[in-house]
Order: sequence, then C-alpha cells, then structure tokens
Amino acid sequence: MNNTTKTVLITGASSGLGRATAEHFHAQGWNVVATMRSPERASGLTASDRVLLTRLDVQDADSIRSAVDAGLERFGRIDVLVNNAGYGAYGPLEATSPEEIRRQFDVNVFGLLATTQALLPHFRANRSGVVVNVSSIGGRMAFPLGSLYHGAKFAVEGLSEALRYELAEIGVAVKVVEPGGMKTDFGGRSLAFTNDEELTEYQPLVQKVLGVLGPLVESGSAPELVAEVVHTAATDGTAQLRYEAGPDAVQLLGLRRASDDASFFTAIETQFSLQR
Ligand code: NAP
Repeated sequence: MNNTTKTVLITGASSGLGRATAEHFHAQGWNVVATMRSPERASGLTASDRVLLTRLDVQDADSIRSAVDAGLERFGRIDVLVNNAGYGAYGPLEATSPEEIRRQFDVNVFGLLATTQALLPHFRANRSGVVVNVSSIGGRMAFPLGSLYHGAKFAVEGLSEALRYELAEIGVAVKVVEPGGMKTDFGGRSLAFTNDEELTEYQPLVQKVLGVLGPLVESGSAPELVAEVVHTAATDGTAQLRYEAGPDAVQLLGLRRASDDASFFTAIETQFSLQR
C-alpha cells in the first residue's frame, strides 16, 4: 500500500451520489471506505484492494465506530469524510407519524453528526481532515410539503457553517455540497412521501408537489457530475464552505439570493401553480 495515497470514507455508498463519489475518488487514485447499510447487497462498485466495503448505518452508533475502525485498520488513515447518506421525507405534517419525523432527522442530521464525531479524534490527532456534508438546494430554500426534508437540510447547513469555524481550530475543513435534482433513487425508493387522503384540504397541494418533485429528480444532473463537485470540495484546499452542484442548483440558488422573501415565495407559488 502506498502511504501517500489518501483515503475517503463515504456514507450511503450503495447507490446514487454515494456510489458515484466512491467510484470517482477511486478513479482519482484514492483509497475508498465505501460504507452502506447492507454491504452484502452492494452492486456496481469496482472491486479493488483500494476499496473497502463495510457496514455503516448512520442510525446505529456501534456500526459507525466499527466502520471507522475498519477503515483505519485497512488504510492507516482517513483524510476525508463524505456525509452523503440521506433520504427525503415529504408530505403534510398532519399526516406524518412521530416515528417518521424522528427517522428523517435521525438519518439526515443526527447520523451525520454522529459520523462526524466518530472521525474527529482521528482528524484532530492528524491536525488535518475534510468533512464534506451533502446538503441540497433544499438546504437553502424550501418546497411545499417538505417541512421535514428542508428542516433537516437547513439544519445540515447551519451546523456545517458553525463547525466550519470550530474545526478550523484543529486544522479540519468543512464543506457543503448543494445538488439540485439528481437522477438517483432519491425520487423513488428513497422518497418517503406520507399522505392521508382523508385530509382532503391538502390533496390538491399533494398532487401539485408530486407533479413537480418527480420531474425535478428525473431531469436532474447525473450523480457522476455531482461526485466531481464533492471531489473538488474535498481537495481544493480553500476555505470555501458551499458548492452548488448542477445547472439547476446554480440557477435556483442564484434566484434565491437575488430575491427578497416575498418575491421568492411568489416564484415558488407560481412554479407549483398555487393560487394565493
Ligand atoms: P439514493 O440513491 O437513494 O442514495 C441514498 C443513500 O442513503 C443510499 O445509499 C441509502 O442506503 C443511504 N441511507 C439511507 N438511510 C441510511 C442510513 N440509516 N444509514 C446509512 N445509509 C443510509 O439518493 P441520492 O440522491 O444519491 O442521495 C444522496 C444524498 O444526496 C442525500 O443526502 C440526498 O438528500 C442528497 N440530495 C439528493 C438529491 C436528488 O435529487 N437526488 C438532490 C439534492 C440532495 P440504502 O441503500 O441502504 O437504502
């Protein structure tokens, strides 16, 4: 093993952006700790002595510790953590169970914090490391029926910004990648859309949101393109915090920045054909 080869640990590497990121770093010559909930079902990842497939469920603290230990045992050092695991909980809040509310924040926020915490002693000892948190355009703006997903991604943005100052004290950089739509399992198997048709008042909105979300994901960027942005964020050596990924992200976040709240909300209401 070449001692100068760098190592990345990625959560949610079974599919979509996580898998594309694992492949991209591997192609760039990195060691990759590709973690996922069910490594026995992994597919599409290059078999290589520079790739360690190991189990990590961000809701299971023991599995986080074991995955970090396995990565360190195999490669001796971890340079970059990519907190990618996540899914989208959407739907009317009234229709959503306390369990689903908790699961969304568990996976997208508490799991990310726990995985970061697990790596910090190692990064602090090395006085070096990069944490790349996968947020979303949805961490800077919200769609209707997304109180949970956007609540979680806004949390990722806020905690990352605070950690950026804190971790600079130990030589560690924090980065946030903000994809727009991406063609992955996110709009299918990873979309937890909760509804209750008896709540008739919300049903027109439910139909409109479903009509916008699906196409947004379907017409989105290839995850391979966003993986390149993750790699840039991890390696550019700058103090830049946020990286918009994909043309729709650049366009929508540009509009968000250029608009006051009232005009941006009107633009969203127009996009979702909401009469106000
Ligand atoms: P994806 O293909 O569905 O990938 C999501 C990954 O998260 C899967 O590997 C899934 O693992 C993993 N995961 C879910 N719960 C987990 C848990 N408890 N522990 C560990 N891993 C868990 O979707 P994706 O689009 O690549 O999503 C990756 C990231 O991009 C997410 O943070 C998402 O919010 C963000 N994002 C996506 C889009 C989009 O339009 N696709 C846009 C902006 C941001 P399993 O295979 O075990 O389920």
